[in-house]
Amino acid sequence: MDRSIIRFSHCDKYIYCFSFHNSDSGGFVDSAGRSSSPHCPLCNSRLRFSLLDAPVSIRTPFDNGHAIPYALTIGSMHGPLYISERDNSELHVGITNSKGVVYNYTMKGVRRDETGWEQCVAVRLVQPGAASAVSLWDRELEHFALSDMWPPERFHEEREFGTCCYAFALGFINQVRAAGGKRCLTRDEFTAIHILPRMKTTSTYVQIYREVLEHDFYMIDRPRDGTG
Ligand SMILES: [Zn+2]
Repeated sequence: MDRSIIRFSHCDKYIYCFSFHNSDSGGFVDSAGRSSSPHCPLCNSRLRFSLLDAPVSIRTPFDNGHAIPYALTIGSMHGPLYISERDNSELHVGITNSKGVVYNYTMKGVRRDETGWEQCVAVRLVQPGAASAVSLWDRELEHFALSDMWPPERFHEEREFGTCCYAFALGFINQVRAAGGKRCLTRDEFTAIHILPRMKTTSTYVQIYREVLEHDFYMIDRPRDGTG
């Protein structure tokens, strides 16, 4: 999912497609490098945009988890196209340390991934500047990972509930919360606070991306607001 998506309005619709941009010659090249002038996929007329209706780029919901310290990372073993609410059972979560190493509990025990989370959803757990929370983070996370709560066998046993990687991440988050004098979160609270809000925007983006990938564009009705 390395292409960026833009949205413009035409034919009373919002139309999503992969980005096109100005080339040096003043023409357009699409994101695959082909020269073309963009046309509306509905009416086929050549697109010319004024300042007010210029295409907007849609922000990707994905982050490089290795570049975001002290975060909860949400990914899918099948790739970012599978990070969505609908594929909930396939989600895999981890916790980054100060250097972006992703600690995550798998059937091989706790892994410390230095690669593989380049396109994930990363939720910052510590606000910038909260030095007290991070001073012991790496040591505590390593200690937590080494505890006997996370053997490979246990991952298998609990796998049917889909709770193993969650339990690891939530366990560590609760340990940090407890050290800061905050009460522990239940699994439902954890999901509602940390997972669902980001999953909603991610699911929408993934749906649009899949449509554009398959049909070259995706459209929705433009809300009637009187601006032509
Ligand atoms: Zn049109």
